[in-house]
Amino acid sequence: MPTKPLDRLMFAQGGLCFFCKQQLPKSEASVEHLVASANGGSNNDENCVACCKAVNALLGSMSLKEKIRVVLNQKGQFKCPNGCDASKVASKPKAKTTTPTAQTQPDDKFSLVVANLKQRGHSRPRKLKTLSSTIASLFPKGLSEVELNTLVKQLESTGKVIITDNNVTYAL
Ligand SMILES: [Zn+2]
Repeated sequence: MPTKPLDRLMFAQGGLCFFCKQQLPKSEASVEHLVASANGGSNNDENCVACCKAVNALLGSMSLKEKIRVVLNQKGQFKCPNGCDASKVASKPKAKTTTPTAQTQPDDKFSLVVANLKQRGHSRPRKLKTLSSTIASLFPKGLSEVELNTLVKQLESTGKVIITDNNVTYAL
């Protein structure tokens, strides 16, 4: 078992900075006393973490309460001030941010129909006529013929239903 506090802490933390969870090269690592030595904090491992020198310098001799505040202020996105390894962070593939399009957000009526049909399980209407009246009954305020046809077409075009000779099968 490593005997130097820094080595021990680095081992226990899997080689990662305590705060930002990035790979921490030993040259960048330092021992941070959670309760600062100046405030009577001990040198025991239970009061110490290994972290980037940058964050160690930032936290300095803050009280534990202030340090916790700093951590909480990062909202789970803790990045060390001058990045214990900014290069590695930058080279990580970024998750693609996709903006929802109109296509992936079907209008409310359509989602309502799909949800209702899903709920019905085995008692789904088997005929086009009953499917139509089932859909119509979901909208007590009234559904125009055009809207009804559009919904049925939408069910068909999205592959949720297959209509053959007025018989309806489901792929929900
Ligand atoms: Zn860090």
